Amino acid sequence: MTTIPFFPYSDLFEKDRENLLGLIDSVCSKGAYIMQQELRDFEINLARFINAKYVYGVANGTDAIIIGLKAVRISQGDEVIIPSHTYIATAAAIHLVGSVPVLAECGSDHMLDVNDIEHRINSNTKAIMPVQINGRTCDMDKIQVLADKYNLLVLEDAAQGLGSKYKGRYAGTLGSFGTFSFYPAKLLGCFGDGGAIVTNDDELAGKISLLRDHGRDDSGDVVAWGYNSRLDNLQAAILDYKLKAYPMDIERRRYIASCYQRGLGDIKQLDLPPAPGSNDDYFDVYQNYELEADSRDDLRSFLEQNGIKTIIQWAGTPVHQFSQLGFSCELPLTDHFFKRCLMLPMNTSVSDEEIKYIIKKVRNFYEYS
Ligand SMILES: *Cc1c(COP(=O)(O)O)cnc(C)c1O
Repeated sequence: MTTIPFFPYSDLFEKDRENLLGLIDSVCSKGAYIMQQELRDFEINLARFINAKYVYGVANGTDAIIIGLKAVRISQGDEVIIPSHTYIATAAAIHLVGSVPVLAECGSDHMLDVNDIEHRINSNTKAIMPVQINGRTCDMDKIQVLADKYNLLVLEDAAQGLGSKYKGRYAGTLGSFGTFSFYPAKLLGCFGDGGAIVTNDDELAGKISLLRDHGRDDSGDVVAWGYNSRLDNLQAAILDYKLKAYPMDIERRRYIASCYQRGLGDIKQLDLPPAPGSNDDYFDVYQNYELEADSRDDLRSFLEQNGIKTIIQWAGTPVHQFSQLGFSCELPLTDHFFKRCLMLPMNTSVSDEEIKYIIKKVRNFYEYS
């Protein structure tokens, strides 16, 4: 029987085994493990790719947010507005620097609902942190208007947004700082944990560079308190290598999204994510293909029986439903969304044949010919 995994982890390596082994050999035989040339090269190349002034590789995408928050001095008692439709890491980073994550609704585009921000702003609010989820950016102009009106920072969790653009500007460069994750299943994945922080601000860049490496400056002097949160040189080498092919990966993901759009767009029981090219303000890179479906759980079982693995994002739990973490707010739009959302396979390994098969099975389920 056909089996289509949701994300084929071993393919990351197997697809390009020889070259990757050569790369690992060359880095390890030099003994270049921490803060070496490969990391500097990757930081420069990534900065060039997204048109940013500074990129710093860090240990993971969660640390990237923590370090960014520390650098902009978000601390005890401050509030930061984020969507509930995000990974727990966004909220955890805010909590772990002593401040309060304030959760807002999910909009019809699946992003932070820009109409649900203003009434959550009070005298403790310091920042809005849009999450560039599923490889798409939020409506950043509307968010910036609110930030200007109330003198707030805009900080981007762009863990899922590498390469996506809003009005021609790259995710990660749309606020004071932006963060990326290189977790294996992310758009640009390494063979373990990895992350980066991006900024165009000289002063912030200086702080970030100290914070990620024990507060040490270029001469090795300790001039501030810092973390040990560096992107491994070996992971940086792998990422720098994969970055060269990344524009092709983006094209492939956009192509797959256009196939899903063409194949499923007429099904009344589905709400698909915005199609590539459907709005000139957005360039989406489809970290995920997240749709909304009537009879979602039955559709999911039917696809499973036909060998197609799907996922409900965050294992089906948006942040505000984690009552053990003390959340008690009501977000009915987000609750409704989480009864209907489903992610179909979206990665650079899934073949054209497999996409056709997935479309056929979804059509069968809803009895569309
Ligand atoms: C993956 C992810 C993170 C965390 O990144 P890690 O590298 O796993 O620490 C944060 N926010 C979002 C939206 C993510 O998808």
